[in-house]
Amino acid sequence: MIYLADWLLTGEGSPVRNGWIQVEGNRIVATGSASGLPEGVPVQRFAGCALLPGLVNAHCHLELTTLQGRLDSGNSFPVWVEQLRAYTAGLDSTSYHHAAYEGVRQLLAGGCTTVLDVGNTGDALPVLAASPLRAFACVETLGLDPALAEPRFDAARSRIESHRGEKGLPTDRFRPGIAPHAAYSMSPELLRRVLDHQKSLGLPVTIHAAESREEAEMFASGTGPLADYCRRIYPDAPRHHGTSPVRWLEANGLFPDGLILVHGNILDEADMEILARRKATVVHCPSSHAFFGHPRFPYEALRARGINVALGTDSLASGDSLSMLEQMRLFAEAYPEVPLDEILTLASTHGAHALGLSDVGVLKAGNQADFIAVSENATEEPPKAFGKLSTIVLAGKSCDILAGV
Ligand SMILES: [Zn+2]
Repeated sequence: MIYLADWLLTGEGSPVRNGWIQVEGNRIVATGSASGLPEGVPVQRFAGCALLPGLVNAHCHLELTTLQGRLDSGNSFPVWVEQLRAYTAGLDSTSYHHAAYEGVRQLLAGGCTTVLDVGNTGDALPVLAASPLRAFACVETLGLDPALAEPRFDAARSRIESHRGEKGLPTDRFRPGIAPHAAYSMSPELLRRVLDHQKSLGLPVTIHAAESREEAEMFASGTGPLADYCRRIYPDAPRHHGTSPVRWLEANGLFPDGLILVHGNILDEADMEILARRKATVVHCPSSHAFFGHPRFPYEALRARGINVALGTDSLASGDSLSMLEQMRLFAEAYPEVPLDEILTLASTHGAHALGLSDVGVLKAGNQADFIAVSENATEEPPKAFGKLSTIVLAGKSCDILAGV
């Protein structure tokens, strides 16, 4: 089958007018422009649309989907955390399961074909395993008390164990793993256990870091509302001084190569040198960033240093959209000088690179046939913005979003 549209954006290179991709089974076998259309192959045309790679959501929490609009924006980060804990205390496994189900539907409707999801309960795992998405499904763990390192790690591991594929290994489409929560919320002992676990399975490590002003203050001077909050939970929490989350991780041997660092709103020169050296990815979540009113995300500085930047939605507890198309739109609003095809790479190729996926994120021969068609109103000029999702195809199969899970 050949899929033809007004524009083809492959995720690398310039937009192609009247571009097409040819799919056999689950793979792309060729791409091109209308003039080179192969004969004798059925063609499906998407008029008024652009074909794009399936989008890669490098950070979300599907189990919090039901919290949309429940938590107040504009509060300090620790106040939001307190509110979140209060709300989630009232949720049970059934609510988390439904949240994940609805979350998957919203991801698909927003053009996502690959996701890195993080949850505390593990209830999203069976939903993701049954969904058509390519999923890195992590159970999150945290704990400042070193005495908790062993039991917390064991609890996270037992949550993912029952969802592994055959022979106890991750499969191509579904990869369960463990995610460390944040540098401020974990003992080095627990963090190390998680890093070793992910490395042994060849899975990436993702962690929240350098997100808020309160977190920066905690690492710079050991003071402030987040430092106080952590000490209320664990009175012997370390009193940091003169450091940052990134430098603290690096100094403790807890910053693995290829780390997927989520947020990275507050980064200095020394932090960025570590990120570049470690070939880290920084995941920016535009809707969540706006919800909190964090300092401006340093995209230009990261880009200038060649640091891989990807996009994520974060959860609906701190944002109002699980649509990756909407994250691209918000990014374009905040960075109007960045061209649309570059923004697309953040939402596709860069996310795939972070996850170690070499055959998704770019529409080219040999790659997985994960792509979307979205409306656009360009004619002769390449599109400046995208509209709504028209079609989503995963591994060569058209996906019915409502029946997608
Ligand atoms: Zn998060």
